Amino acid sequence: MNQELINQLRDQPVQPQSLLIDGRWEQAVSGKNLPVISPIDGKQLCTLALADRTDVDRAVGAARKSYESGAWSRMAPAERKKVLHRIAGLIEAHHAELAVLGVRDNGTEIAMAWKAEPGSAAATFRYYAECVDKVNGEIAPTPDGTLGLIHKEPVGVVAVIVPWNFPLMIGAWKIAPALAAGNSVVLKPSEDASLSLLRLAQLCLDAGLPPGVLNVVTGTGAEAGDALARHRDVDILTFTGSGAVGRLLLKASAESNLKRVFLELGGKSPNIVFQDAPDLAQAAKVSAMGIFRNSGQVCVAGSRLLVQRAVHDEFVDLVLKVANSLRVGDPLDVTTDIGAVGSARQLARNQGMLTRALEQGARLRTGGQVIAPVAGGNYMSPAVLDAVQPEMEIAQQEVFGPILAVMPFDTEAQAVQLANGTEFGLAAGVWTGNLSRAHRMVRAIKAGVVHVNTYGGPDITVPLGGVRQSGNGHDKSMHALDKYLDLKTAWIQL
Ligand code: NAD
Repeated sequence: MNQELINQLRDQPVQPQSLLIDGRWEQAVSGKNLPVISPIDGKQLCTLALADRTDVDRAVGAARKSYESGAWSRMAPAERKKVLHRIAGLIEAHHAELAVLGVRDNGTEIAMAWKAEPGSAAATFRYYAECVDKVNGEIAPTPDGTLGLIHKEPVGVVAVIVPWNFPLMIGAWKIAPALAAGNSVVLKPSEDASLSLLRLAQLCLDAGLPPGVLNVVTGTGAEAGDALARHRDVDILTFTGSGAVGRLLLKASAESNLKRVFLELGGKSPNIVFQDAPDLAQAAKVSAMGIFRNSGQVCVAGSRLLVQRAVHDEFVDLVLKVANSLRVGDPLDVTTDIGAVGSARQLARNQGMLTRALEQGARLRTGGQVIAPVAGGNYMSPAVLDAVQPEMEIAQQEVFGPILAVMPFDTEAQAVQLANGTEFGLAAGVWTGNLSRAHRMVRAIKAGVVHVNTYGGPDITVPLGGVRQSGNGHDKSMHALDKYLDLKTAWIQL
């Protein structure tokens, strides 16, 4: 990461953006556009083409045509693998450009975006490139005289809808395995963070991905997103975003063609500190970053801190010290700890939830102010609340902002009860020096990922997905590939 290079890239003009349909960059049929406002300073960066149902229909048509042509779906696996590796190579070659463009669009601090965005996206394409020629079919153990073959086939047209936090990383988690499996894709990025994904799409073309295999429609969720969700020629919809939109997508599927819908949704993840945690100071540092990095706009954010009463006051003091030391500032400054909140709308939501928490009796120990390290941008200082009761909104609902709700507990059983006491089940953290307790907690907590003596950081080799109302699918790892493959049986009489 190099500040001088970042400074050169940060002021480069961004051209008006188009839709990618069948390998060509095109305007929306309506000719309409959306302004792209940077959360860094509130200034307009460029415009996005505003796709409507006609554009989505054209994109799905292009995806279907490319799929049926076999140009990608029947390309020799060894060749498909080369293209995916070339995409990874181009992401690596454009690392700085992609990182800075993404930060200008969504405000994540560059230190985080540098690793999590192009870094993860390239690693993801490489991982799934390596899978392409290692997915075997099966021969079933059938009786003599019969042969049961189980083929694994691409599903067809995959719609990908992603949120504004970590668009490149989350986009790659879906696009790379979908392509590796031989599908064609229509991507709908968030209207609040489309730019780095549009650039990635061009890099995919440059790497030799055939036209129509990856199409991108930008615009609003209510129009372009809904049109994709209701399209009768989309076979799978894979989504990361809020539970509210997840519900709409299931309904849209039911009311159209029963397409498979995979949902990666939000959470209210508990981070549990026992009095026997090996290093309280280290636990406080990691726990604070586990909620405050990217201004809390992380699906797995450890937004509920549960602390055993014997170390509660000491631990909260340590967390307050870390929170107060974090510098909220220009996201493109390499020394900034916490960048901008993604949009003015999200900042208002954070403030609304904080105000209601205080009205309901929570106590603000630090932060929570709207600040302006860069004029015109959206910034909030990290907030720590104690005196939080489990039934309060702040303990039950995802904020998606830099607000930590602290609650004490006495026994392991109470910790489990509190941890599982929301409708979500995405992530959790457990800090303990007792190995048996760590394993008991991993089993007892209802979540897709349980961190032990750390928070965050699992790589591409392990799945990420929620249980309960945090979703029904998994991104990452070999397991994610299964979402994009169909099983077909051939039953043969010999
Ligand atoms: P969101 O649900 O508002 O939007 C996500 C995407 O859905 C956007 O592209 C949006 O345009 C689209 N959309 C909106 N309305 C739609 C509709 N009616 N039909 C089809 N598409 C529609 O979410 P967001 O605010 O962009 O992202 C924040 C949420 O995402 C949080 O809840 C967060 O926890 C979640 N998230 C989950 C994970 C995970 O892996 N589980 C990862 C990151 C973010």
